[in-house]
Amino acid sequence: MKLWIRSEVARLTNIRAGQSRKMGVPGPEGSIGKMASADLNKETYEFCIKLLGAEGMLYGSYEMVRPETAMSFDSIPKAFLRARANSIEGGTSEVMRNILGERVLGLPGDVRVDREIPWSKVPRN
Ligand SMILES: Cc1cc2nc3c(=O)[nH]c(=O)nc-3n(C[C@H](O)[C@H](O)[C@H](O)COP(=O)(O)OP(=O)(O)OC[C@H]3O[C@@H](n4cnc5c(N)ncnc54)[C@H](O)[C@@H]3O)c2cc1C
Repeated sequence: MKLWIRSEVARLTNIRAGQSRKMGVPGPEGSIGKMASADLNKETYEFCIKLLGAEGMLYGSYEMVRPETAMSFDSIPKAFLRARANSIEGGTSEVMRNILGERVLGLPGDVRVDREIPWSKVPRN
């Protein structure tokens, strides 16, 4: 029930964000949605795997198959594994939290000792 409610909140927030974009005033919903949906998707598939019990450990076939549509999965375990990437791809959840904290909430930024240094001059090992 909690997962369903969070899904509904995400869906309705996405609709609101789309309408704001159409009016030319995109808000912070994009960054919030990216971060929230990554966690939600991961938790939803974790729950599905728990419901499957021991069957959740079965991967199905390892044969290379081109999916009929993008992001479609023929098994819950495959979707569960793919969901792990949601908090990395398109900007990690840690970086999204920084963006929301600093640019939306106006909190003090991280200490950045290399802020004024060109990338080529940043010390690295
Ligand atoms: C499945 C998958 C598909 C992808 N598809 C694409 C694609 O189609 N096109 C494309 O261009 N890229 C794609 N990527 C790349 C993706 O955008 C990057 O992996 C992602 O932005 C993170 O960058 P990075 O791997 O360099 O990690 P890094 O930036 O090196 O981050 C490493 C770790 O440090 C943390 N970190 C980094 N900076 C900060 C900070 N300032 N504050 C706090 N923590 C920080 C991160 O959260 C992470 O845990 C894909 C990645 C994956 C996993």
